[in-house]
Amino acid sequence: MDYSALADLLFPNVTDTPDDLEERFPPRDLPEGAVVSRMAPSPTGFVHLGNLVQGTISERMCTQSGGVHFLRIEDTDAKREVPGAVEMLLQGLGEYGIGFDEGVTADGEKGNYGPYRQRQRASIYHVYAKKLVLEGMAYPCFCTEDELAKIHAEQEAEKANFGYFGKWAIWRDRPIEDIKAAIDAGTPWVLRFRSEGNIENKIPVTDLVKGKLEVTENDIDHVLLKSDGIPTYHFAHAVDDHLMRTTHVVRGDEWLPSLPFHLQLFRALGFRPPKYLHIGTLMKMDGTSKRKLSKRKDPELSLSYYREAGFPRASVKEYLMGILNSNFEDWRRAEPKADLDNFKFSYKKLNPAGSLFDIAKLNDVSKNVISMMTAEDVLGGYLDWAREFEPEFASTLENDRETALAVFSIGRGGKKPRKDFGTWAEVKDLFGFFWDGYFKVTDEYPDTFDRADIKEAITKFLETYDPADDQNAWFDKIKAVADSLGYASDMKEYRAEPERFRGSIADVSMFLRVAVTGRMNSPDMYQVMAILGEDRVRARLHSMADSL
Ligand code: GLU
Repeated sequence: MDYSALADLLFPNVTDTPDDLEERFPPRDLPEGAVVSRMAPSPTGFVHLGNLVQGTISERMCTQSGGVHFLRIEDTDAKREVPGAVEMLLQGLGEYGIGFDEGVTADGEKGNYGPYRQRQRASIYHVYAKKLVLEGMAYPCFCTEDELAKIHAEQEAEKANFGYFGKWAIWRDRPIEDIKAAIDAGTPWVLRFRSEGNIENKIPVTDLVKGKLEVTENDIDHVLLKSDGIPTYHFAHAVDDHLMRTTHVVRGDEWLPSLPFHLQLFRALGFRPPKYLHIGTLMKMDGTSKRKLSKRKDPELSLSYYREAGFPRASVKEYLMGILNSNFEDWRRAEPKADLDNFKFSYKKLNPAGSLFDIAKLNDVSKNVISMMTAEDVLGGYLDWAREFEPEFASTLENDRETALAVFSIGRGGKKPRKDFGTWAEVKDLFGFFWDGYFKVTDEYPDTFDRADIKEAITKFLETYDPADDQNAWFDKIKAVADSLGYASDMKEYRAEPERFRGSIADVSMFLRVAVTGRMNSPDMYQVMAILGEDRVRARLHSMADSL
């Protein structure tokens, strides 16, 4: 076969050579050890937790090593492309602090190794396609869908492996005359790789996450270019990651079965393969067994879920780092206030089997994260969420920032800050009562208490209540109310002989609490009353007493 004639026949317009491209995209001038990696998502409009995990890993590795993190858009499948997907992706990832030094941007792209959208790189792939044809390592295949389906059916019947190989690779050794005739007839063709691999051979590979592996050589003549001249993922991966000088490929382990082919392609193209990190899928517990998070069943797979549910982004990041690196929690305990970015992420700590994702755990982490925020940050974070999801309450708080800040300051800043909520969605329920429009008595007094006792306790408290009292004086007055009603003002005494009392100081406090806040649980009552102010406190207590 005259490969040179075949190469000219298939790619008459390709004049650039691989050497030209080597010159156009020279090795990067970076210090030893600098990681160059990328995110390479398809623009499907769905940004998911897997993207965030992959992006966190690649971004951390690049940033921490002084390397380059870039964004390449894998839009080779035009049918799956959704308008606006790139913007959604940049926005979604950007919110979680995943940025790019180069690659696709909201309004174009930046960097010297582009274009960074694969459909715009057709002419680049063709240079290498032509080279492979020229070297006898690729050939055109004119099989129709029907013919391929027939091959598949035959393989099924013969219990053979599936794919285009061996006796089924019917265009692999066709004479150039047949190829010419098919082209002249306008028959569409794909370009296939001519595999010399043998499935009897095992090749050792080291994956930075999975460790030492032994994979089976590829013997399939996979498609490199589709009939529209656009490459498959495999071919684009080899060409792009070589020319963009990627040192580390971080990707989902669903690509592991394709690795032998990828290594084969890098060799055929004369490229040095990058280092690979095949990361395990996120798992969740379903009953007592683990399973992969699924797009269909698990809304929490989508990044938009966290925004809607009101998890602060800092909480999601904090939780993810914890499941990616097992030593993170120890670090955090030692550095409770440090910026997450100061943590030294290590790919060596990644669980090869994939991490377990648990919303309840995320919520705990989030309570912690929020408890460490300043009142200003809480208000800012809440408003950012609430403007979209609870606009009315958001404007109530915006118009009364001073109260809002006082409310969010309760129990904050000390050694043991309150950990009362993990999502912004809980704020209105917990603290709405500070504003009259959102105050509602939701909890009822337990039946075990005499309504007359409750009414009397409230009335007596009202008689002595003085907003100028300090916390001790205020509490002494509640104790006095308790004593006068036969409720123990000393919990120790009460616990020793409960039958001597009608109840305890805790019950009397609860009587007041329900009247003032509408619920059995609330932040510190003294501070609550101080923020509500005398008029409101009196009004609520009166209204409750009147209703009993
Ligand atoms: N477009 C591929 C994907 O979304 C990229 C895999 C890779 O990072 O190479 O799975």
